[in-house]
Parts: sequence; structure tokens; C-alpha cells
Amino acid sequence: MIRSVFIARNRNTGFHSLFEVIGSDNPVPATAPMDFDLAEHLLRWGTLDELVAAISESGPLIDRSIYKEENRRLSINEAIEVVEESVGGERGFTRCDEDFLYLQLCLEGVSATGSASSLYPSRASVSRDIERHGLIESDGLAELRRWREADPGCTVVVEPLEDIVLCRNLGSLVLRLTANIRSGCGDVLERSGFRHFDKIHRSRIAGELEDSYYVLPFKHNSSFDRTLNYSSKWFENVFGYMVINPLETRILDLSPKKDKVLFGSVPNAVLITAQIKTGEGAPFFDVCWKPEIEKTQLYLSIDDGGNQRDEAVAFVESTVEMLRGLTTKDGEPLGWSVSEPSIFDNEPLPRYLFHSAAASMFGSIIYRYGYVPATCKNCGNGILVKTRGKRREFCSPSCRTQYSNRKAGL
Ligand SMILES: [Zn+2]
Repeated sequence: MIRSVFIARNRNTGFHSLFEVIGSDNPVPATAPMDFDLAEHLLRWGTLDELVAAISESGPLIDRSIYKEENRRLSINEAIEVVEESVGGERGFTRCDEDFLYLQLCLEGVSATGSASSLYPSRASVSRDIERHGLIESDGLAELRRWREADPGCTVVVEPLEDIVLCRNLGSLVLRLTANIRSGCGDVLERSGFRHFDKIHRSRIAGELEDSYYVLPFKHNSSFDRTLNYSSKWFENVFGYMVINPLETRILDLSPKKDKVLFGSVPNAVLITAQIKTGEGAPFFDVCWKPEIEKTQLYLSIDDGGNQRDEAVAFVESTVEMLRGLTTKDGEPLGWSVSEPSIFDNEPLPRYLFHSAAASMFGSIIYRYGYVPATCKNCGNGILVKTRGKRREFCSPSCRTQYSNRKAGL
């Protein structure tokens, strides 16, 4: 079989993107909720290799351009041209940057061990997986040429890695929060991995914000990295543009920003950095962590104005609203819509139509279609459980093993 997913780094910006081939027999975006196993894979991949496997199955999460300047979908001929220029010259894409890719693959989730290293895949897996999936490193050009021969009508979507990581991390968090809200506990946010960061603690470290928050390490902080090229030219260059986290900027675009903090369309949440004024990393989330790790993260921060349960409900509800209404810059829907039941149905049920694979993934977490949200007994991450038959208790075989080893005192 010809491989269909590759990763490369943009020369201008330093960010990575996936090149995803879509066969000509499969051009339509998803309209039904996603298969639950696949949705869980997209929420819980822990290495580049697992990510490539999940995306090879799901196809691109967002296959249309979010900005006018962006050209996300290419014909196979255009894609081959881009890659030929990349291999030969100064333009387009280049080999992956191992250190930076490691940071970009930031993994949201509660870890059973609570260590900083669980925020990223292992270093060894990153270098191994680049050899396997790198567009340049694994001769993806030869594979694209094979695609052109076998299926001349196929297309290639160039999707920013940042988007895919954001979908993973937001989905994983929403599922965990929903499970903890449903369980009826009061400390929903803390149980979901947030820590309270109060005014006094915060002003001692950063001395800027006056509010207190519940905070959680959430995604790579792309503004921290000095090696990135933020020159104004990238906006004019389609291929330069494609790798700057457009989904996140789009989400944040949906409502006004305030100074110093990124305010998005979810009213009780902000994304903040753990840096003091000089730019040094601050021991923001946990003093045991290394400041250089703190610095690479953007922290999702939820208001502590109400009780944890109400704040978690408000966060999940407005995240769902925001995702449902997500569009391209031209107003084409990327989220989902509801259509009336057919008058010929025996039961008048509304139908949900999902306008992108990302929406269909979120749809299976949010509406669940007969599954219930629960948390893994070992690590606390969200899982989707069938209501009939023996209920699943762990997210993965390794969590089951870890849990029984712990119980046995090993
Ligand atoms: Zn687990």
C-alpha cells in the first residue's frame, strides 16, 4: 500500500505540517459522527507514529482553508511540484526539526505519574518516527508520484500540525471534563488535572494578572521559541502561512482580545504563559517542574469566580458552541448543523450534519450516541464506554497493567 501521510517543516516559519493524500473516491467530508475507536485514537495518540496511523484512517481533520491566504488543498500535481522545489531548493518545506517537533507534539492529558516528561512523546520515538514519516527523510516524493500514477484525481491537504494537536488536546479535555461533571463530584476541575493558581501566588511569580485561575498545561507556546521566524513576510507566502496555528487564531478571532492575555470565544477561559517579565520561565504550574519546560507551554486557565462544577459546565458549553459555529474565513461551515427530522421517520429525531472530520470527532465526544463518558481508573483521562455489556474501566492495556501492578504493591 502507498503511504498517504507525511510530515515536513516549513522553511520560512519553522512549523511542521502534515501532507495528507485523499483518494479521488473519498472526496467528501464526514457528515456522520466518527467511529468511537477512531475518535479515541485521535484524542489519545502519544507519538508521531500513532498520530500518522490515526490520520491515515480519519483523513484530514480540517480539509479546507481557514484563511483566504491559505491554500490547504492541492492537486497531486501541485503537491508534487511543491515537494520537488522543496527537495531541490530554498523554497517550501524541509526536513523536520527534531527538537522543535518534540515541543509541537505537546500532549494534553492527566498522567498517572504526573511528570513533566509525560507532556511529550519520548525523544527516541520522535527521531525514529521522523525516519518513517518525514516527507524528505522517508522519500515521500516517490510515494506521491506513485499516487499520481495510481489515482491521478487524488488531492493533497497540507494541514498544520498545530491544528491537529489543538483538536486532540481540546477533545481530550472536553471528554474528561464531561465525565467528571457527570460523575457528580464537586472538584471537577482539580479532578480533571487543573490546579488552582490564586492571586497571591501568581502576583509573587508574574506580578501581572490580578485574577486567579484554575490552570492546566494545554499546548505548545509557539511565541516562546526564539528560533521561529515571525517576519511579516510569512503572511504573503501561502506556504509560509499554512504552518502558523490557524485554527487557534481563528478561535481566538471570534471574540475581542484584551491586553497581555489571549481571550478567545470561550468567556471564562484564557490562554496564558508561565513567564516572568524578562521572559524567563516561571514555576507556574508546579515548582518541581523545570522552568524551561514551563516556558514551552500555553496554560489553559479557567476563571475561579464560581464553583468548579459551574465553571467546568460553562467552559464545556461554550467550547461546544464555538466548535459548532466554526467556519472558514468565507463563512463555509466547518462545525455542524442540525436538520429537521424527515416526515417519513417513525421517530422524529433531528439529524446532525458534521462539516469536517474534526467536527465529526468532536460530535462523537459531545453527543456520544449511546456511549457514556467515564474516566480511566488509572490515569484519569476520559474514555467512551458502551452502556451495554461489561463496562470498560481503562483507557489502554498499559493503564490496566499499571493499575493492577500498583494494587499488587509491585
Ligand atoms: Zn489511562
